Amino acid sequence: MTVETKLRELRARLLEIRDLGWAAAVLSWDQATYMPAAGAPGRARQLALLGRLEHERMTDPGLGRLLDVLAPYANEHDNDNARLIAVARRDFDKAIKVPASYVERANALGSASYSAWRQARPSNDFASMRPYLEKSLELTREYVEFFAPYQHMADPLIDDVDEGLTSAAIRALFDELRRELVPLVTAIANQAPADDRCLHGTFAERAQLEFGLKVATDFGYDLKHGRLDTSPHPFCTKFSDADIRITTRTYANDLSQGLFSTLHETGHALYEQGIAPELAGTPLGRGTSMAVHESQSRLWENVVGRSRNFWQHYYPKLQQEFPEQLEHTSRESFYRAINKVERSLIRTDADEVTYNLHIILRFDLELELLEGKLAVKELPEAWRERYERDLAITPPDDRDGCLQDVHWYSGGIGGAFHSYAIGNILAAQFYAAALRAHPDIPDEIGAGKFTTLRQWLTENLYRHGRRFKPAEIVARATGEPMTIKPYMAYLRSKYGELYRL
Ligand code: ZN
Repeated sequence: MTVETKLRELRARLLEIRDLGWAAAVLSWDQATYMPAAGAPGRARQLALLGRLEHERMTDPGLGRLLDVLAPYANEHDNDNARLIAVARRDFDKAIKVPASYVERANALGSASYSAWRQARPSNDFASMRPYLEKSLELTREYVEFFAPYQHMADPLIDDVDEGLTSAAIRALFDELRRELVPLVTAIANQAPADDRCLHGTFAERAQLEFGLKVATDFGYDLKHGRLDTSPHPFCTKFSDADIRITTRTYANDLSQGLFSTLHETGHALYEQGIAPELAGTPLGRGTSMAVHESQSRLWENVVGRSRNFWQHYYPKLQQEFPEQLEHTSRESFYRAINKVERSLIRTDADEVTYNLHIILRFDLELELLEGKLAVKELPEAWRERYERDLAITPPDDRDGCLQDVHWYSGGIGGAFHSYAIGNILAAQFYAAALRAHPDIPDEIGAGKFTTLRQWLTENLYRHGRRFKPAEIVARATGEPMTIKPYMAYLRSKYGELYRL
């Protein structure tokens, strides 16, 4: 067999694995959007089966032998085939550590827990979620042991989504961030709060969806390869390289929720749609890590979507859409309203300045859960204490307390929240680098044009998919390792002006 034949076999095997994952994504998307509640047991069973089949393919000894045979090629070359072999090797080595029976149990628990959470959150019923959480914690601990030895239990979970990151590195970064953020939040909290009543009239949800989708397509979201639906927890998913979906949620009495959720998920979708076609169908054909992915959603949602220049172009259009509601609101008042800084209960509603405090607290709590320092039954109380301490507010119930995020209720605990905060940090770092290359980007945004920014991101980040590890792509694109400096400079400049600090 020639190397070409072996590479073809490798690609065929990897495409089957991708297809099984994508088929499962369709079922999950349907579960989160249109499926009637009664479909849950059947759906859980189907997802478990697909997960098992995918895992079987991923751990097939034939795949391992093929990778062994191709190893010398990967060592001798520096091209996409070599990178494909290396990435497939990493995925294989991780997958074979996890028994198929475990994957099946974990997937079944994930589906059941998610369905239960969808009932439990609106009815503020933490007690009904407690057994699911305890089981999830147990299964997570079991999972982590497959990767022993490790420095910290959270490390294998973090490495799954952000290769190369560790809990120690994140803790150091979060400590630095907290030191900078807390005085800034306090300084802002001492000022008169922004008036955001203009966002809380009555706004037809269909019109909100259409406006958001129009901006998404202006950003460059391609509807020939995507679509927008609604779900309780917005997300971006992928059914193939040519079908990248987003969901959002709208509220008639809150204009910013739906709009910024749409822009957020659009950022994720732009990353996936920007991946080079030659990486399609392979494990290289997706974003390089969760944190880098989140940097793109935050960049488009916040750095672009909440900027003064952006609204210079879009505010008259929004006023046209909602003439009665917004006729007495100036552009400047609207800009201040969408950038209101407030110590609030809900992470997904949090402003750019306080957002990371929500994350740091969750990161700490999940480490405590994993380490056994915190029992599941103590979680609601620990949550309340941390919100009082870090954000000076008391959650009135669990619905808007520890039940608010889907993450812990989908079958695993740990290895997810950190990427949101790191996403904010990297969003500013990527944007600052784009600005150094093209100082006219803010003016273009002010004219409703995003091509230069999107092309810079595509060229330096999107098209590479998973060719480079997260730390490598950050250094290549921005010229330096991850740093909080551009992020803090961004916050200080924007909010210093807004709150006259
Ligand atoms: Zn996101």
